[in-house]
Amino acid sequence: MLNKAKEELSWYEEHYGEELLAGGEIDDPIKPEENGSEATKGNDQVEAPDTEDGEPMAEAEVTGGAGQVTAGDTAIAEGPDEWDGTRRVYITFDDGPSTSTNTILDILDQYGVKATFFVTGKEGSEYAEVYKRIANSGHTIGMHSYSHKYSELYESLGSFSADLHKLQTFLYETTGVWSQYYRFPGGSSNTVSNVPMDELIKYLELENISYFDWNVASSDDRAGINKDIIVANVMTGVPKFHEAIILLHDAQDKQATVEALPEIIEQIQAMDNTVIVPITEDTLPVQHISNSQ
Ligand SMILES: [Zn+2]
Repeated sequence: MLNKAKEELSWYEEHYGEELLAGGEIDDPIKPEENGSEATKGNDQVEAPDTEDGEPMAEAEVTGGAGQVTAGDTAIAEGPDEWDGTRRVYITFDDGPSTSTNTILDILDQYGVKATFFVTGKEGSEYAEVYKRIANSGHTIGMHSYSHKYSELYESLGSFSADLHKLQTFLYETTGVWSQYYRFPGGSSNTVSNVPMDELIKYLELENISYFDWNVASSDDRAGINKDIIVANVMTGVPKFHEAIILLHDAQDKQATVEALPEIIEQIQAMDNTVIVPITEDTLPVQHISNSQ
């Protein structure tokens, strides 16, 4: 087990080493077309055509920012001696609930897998049932802003906190869950926020909320992407990390994600010493930028 960890670490350092610390952790030097810098571009940005902030400039900058990751890879962060030998894979869905959520939940049930849903605020009794199903099925409910409108959310600390509390209260009233997990729309390294992100990060800390980015980009938000590429992107990324946090999207127009999910789960479940688990308070966050304090 230890030897395997050491092998993996040295493989990782050999392939990524300085590049990881300098900023290329998601880039794949072997197959840049499939999972390279292009695959990380946009991440969470492309999905939001309804906001005026998601222009290509911002997307490119988000990618650059994401390169600041140092905490994402626990092989580097902890060293092999502290790794318990079990790879933990976190399947996370942003932007739901949607008309796809029940299908996603059916698939997760079928495989006995618990995931994490970073949800937004969706009104109506039908969605209320979906929030409840997520919670009652043992999946983790995280927050992804009520509005998901960058211009409003990131206008000021006041607008951010108002949106946060609106969603947190809404989720509590709907599901009984007081969510303590957050994923910033656009990621913590977005450059569209009017407020310096470290201020928002400090604010979340004061609120006892942990934020999570991702280290495995499925790129399922890229236009025209198909199931096979999503599966390939995920399965290229997962083996690189002892703690792999996969970014997927739960949205009506992301059918390829739903189609890819069974294969993703099957391939991960076939990996040695690997478990798929929901985010909990014990999960070491992957953070694209972290509070330097
Ligand atoms: Zn989003």
